[in-house]
Amino acid sequence: AKSRAGAAWLFFDQGMNGASRARLDTEQALGRAIAAREFLLEYQPKFRAGTRTLSGFEALVRWERPGRGRVSPGEFVPAAERTGQIKALGELIVELACTQLLDWQRRFGRAPSVAINVSPLQFEDAGFAGRLLARLAALGLPSGALEIEITETAAIGHLGRVLPQLNRLRSEGVACALDDFGTGQSSLTMLRQLPISTVKLDRSMIEPLPEVQASAVVMATCALGQSLNLEIVAEGVETEQQAEAAEALGCTQLQGYHLGRPMTPEQAGELLTLAFAA
Ligand code: C2E
Ligand code: CA
Ligand code: CA
Ligand code: CA
Repeated sequence: AKSRAGAAWLFFDQGMNGASRARLDTEQALGRAIAAREFLLEYQPKFRAGTRTLSGFEALVRWERPGRGRVSPGEFVPAAERTGQIKALGELIVELACTQLLDWQRRFGRAPSVAINVSPLQFEDAGFAGRLLARLAALGLPSGALEIEITETAAIGHLGRVLPQLNRLRSEGVACALDDFGTGQSSLTMLRQLPISTVKLDRSMIEPLPEVQASAVVMATCALGQSLNLEIVAEGVETEQQAEAAEALGCTQLQGYHLGRPMTPEQAGELLTLAFAA
């Protein structure tokens, strides 16, 4: 490992371009950052279609890097996946989400549903699902309080590892969402084959609404979803027009800046106060 690091630095000196230098820097800083727990979660609300009442939150990781400010997950999650550090980071994210759930459970007497994003690499560890369930049980949290989101490319590319663990999670009551639907080489048949409870339609399918072709695709997905008893979440809803189109086409939940941005736990707690009082 020592000689590899040495070689990397030699390469660095000999004129790496700015982008690969930044990449190497991120990769090298991540290990220390995970040990120092420099990560936090923001919570983006999801709402039921029609009534627009709160249905839960999606936890989104942030890296508060000392001296540099916030680093976007679009930058460091792929870096953590390249180096394998996503496993340690993923465990920290599960821990942070469970701690938040416990806090809300104590404060409100019940916990909302919180979804966490899980990288396919985390499933390479066959103990992932078991550890997650054990953690929930140890904290006295209902397994229905946690949902996991995995991308369709991830699910398809790692079926052998993912499927048994998804089955286990689902049978124990953990909801599983197929994320970013409509971006990969997804097919509607996948929806039948995976043990999922929810499909999240990618923002790229919601953005053009109410344009005719996009509407047709969303409607077909919703029709199949309904027959399979799946929740269909429209992601990235930025306008009221998109929200109304998604509702009319059969989406069961809405998420996006138009309804609520990712927020601090304190702000999410305020939403919960209102939602649980209603
Ligand atoms: P994602 O899972 O598809 O999450 C949705 C992303 O879209 C989030 O960006 C969210 O802030 C953003 N978003 C939500 N509503 C809107 C909207 O109306 N318009 C637009 N333009 N964007 C919207 P974020 O937080 O930067 O996360 C980016 C990606 O990083 C996520 O995409 C996910 O793939 C990954 N990620 C985030 N948190 C985690 C995590 O805890 N674990 C893992 N493995 N990946 C994560
Ligand atoms: Ca997601
Ligand atoms: Ca998504
Ligand atoms: Ca995404």
